[in-house]
Amino acid sequence: MLANKTALVTGSTSGIGLGIAKALARQGANILLNGFGDAQGPQAEISALGARVAYHGADMSKPSEIEDMMQFAAAQFGRVDILVNNAGIQHVARVESFPVDKWDAILAINLSSAFHATRLALPAMQAANWGRIINVASVHGLVGSSEKSAYVAAKHGVVGLTKVTALENATSGVTCNAICPGWVLTPLVQKQVDAKAVAMGLSNDEAKRQLLGEKEPSMQFTTPEELGELAVFFCSPAANNVRGVAWNMDGGWVAQ
Ligand code: NAD
Repeated sequence: MLANKTALVTGSTSGIGLGIAKALARQGANILLNGFGDAQGPQAEISALGARVAYHGADMSKPSEIEDMMQFAAAQFGRVDILVNNAGIQHVARVESFPVDKWDAILAINLSSAFHATRLALPAMQAANWGRIINVASVHGLVGSSEKSAYVAAKHGVVGLTKVTALENATSGVTCNAICPGWVLTPLVQKQVDAKAVAMGLSNDEAKRQLLGEKEPSMQFTTPEELGELAVFFCSPAANNVRGVAWNMDGGWVAQ
């Protein structure tokens, strides 16, 4: 379905981004990976699916590096047809003791990076009259949780950016939508499981059950594979008129 299309997935060396990159690769898209840590393993996984793959290590908190990555994408693949703004970090602390440098980093990586990548990707999508921008927000783009002020503020911002981008392109073939996962067991969440296990003297399994029990009625983690299939749907012709939604996949979290 996505042959001859190119997808840039930010923060795709791990977790949800890698899951989405693999799902798009299975549909025939070329993939540009981004993120920190080992890039060779993820590149090999995408290649094994038969897709063309490249990697750029832009630090998504730095606009100049994002510009460099977009130029690299154009040189490698012609243009970016599908942009998945996924890179993100977390830090947990009450507002009055939230470290200022962590606030700035979360806003830069989780929100401003999506603005920069979007503004740089849009002109080529508009010229082609086809494009898909998928922002990985969170249930925290829809509701709040204690001790996550920067994350919740950034993710609500991502949902707002999604709506405005969708509206500004509503009469064209360029759509923009957000995905709002509940708990997904990636390194980002495993850190929170570990912190709970230490703080409460729990086993890893018990800490996971408690984490789910607080928020997620299904008592199940959403998987990167399931989120990947939602991204594939947003790229399909059936989603041509799906514009500006913030679609939660959260085991009932925000239905409560
Ligand atoms: P993860 O830690 O597994 O992956 C994060 C990715 O972002 C990695 O590839 C990392 O290298 C990359 N990254 C971090 N800082 C970066 C930077 N400055 N520049 C470039 N890349 C950077 O986390 P994940 O759980 O897969 O999270 C992916 C996205 O999904 C995030 O936006 C996160 O907020 C969102 N999300 C996660 C969950 C969850 O439960 N895990 C739930 C809702 C939303």
